[in-house]
Amino acid sequence: MRILGLAALAVLLLAPAPARAATTSLAGKVVFLDAGHNGGNAQHPEVINKIVDAGNGVRKACDTTGTETNDRRLTEAAFNLSMAIRVQKKLQQRGATVVMTRTTNDGVGPCITDRAAIGNQANADAVVSLHADGGRPGGRGFHVIYPGKIKGSDPARLAASRRLAVLMRSSLWARGERSATYIGDHGLDERTDLGGLNLSTRPAIFIEMGNMRNAGDARRMKNGAHREKVAGAITLGLVRFLRS
Ligand SMILES: [Zn+2]
Repeated sequence: MRILGLAALAVLLLAPAPARAATTSLAGKVVFLDAGHNGGNAQHPEVINKIVDAGNGVRKACDTTGTETNDRRLTEAAFNLSMAIRVQKKLQQRGATVVMTRTTNDGVGPCITDRAAIGNQANADAVVSLHADGGRPGGRGFHVIYPGKIKGSDPARLAASRRLAVLMRSSLWARGERSATYIGDHGLDERTDLGGLNLSTRPAIFIEMGNMRNAGDARRMKNGAHREKVAGAITLGLVRFLRS
């Protein structure tokens, strides 16, 4: 048995290593990265407070300002954009086409209806909306939101969205991120009230990358090395989804 074991080990060692580019290439794949909210939203309530149809009979504001850290030094809109740009670079390095809702943080909106439409029109293979939560201060950690069944939903899209959510959670766990202690089920949450998920025709998730109202999460969100680590984990989740 010992000899067989060594032989198996030798085969393993002598087998050519698969080229990294071949196993993680995203050539031909389209990813829509939707950085939640926008830095100019607070100054333009007349735009973002317009009521839109978020699907499933839900009527809500066109967009919202998002949350911020308790010390007000980091807004969710700025954090979301920083993360979207980091993930965009990593996906483009792997050959993916990346469609972005926004690349600056001084604009207004767009409405959640328009955000969903951008991903649909791009025929995105995966849609990821990047957010950070404003939960109770004692709760920490990320959670991934996937669409629940509503009238007219496509079961295949729902299943793909859930698979993307599960792979995203495991990739965040694999890179040391901890799932939320205050919401969801071990880092996953199914919702039927979000326009970005209800109105999308593509596999779509929201990632709430942490709780900005929690001191520990807020400290990590301000750290560039932490942002890079989380962006790497999100990229890994997309690679796993798009290559499987
Ligand atoms: Zn948000």
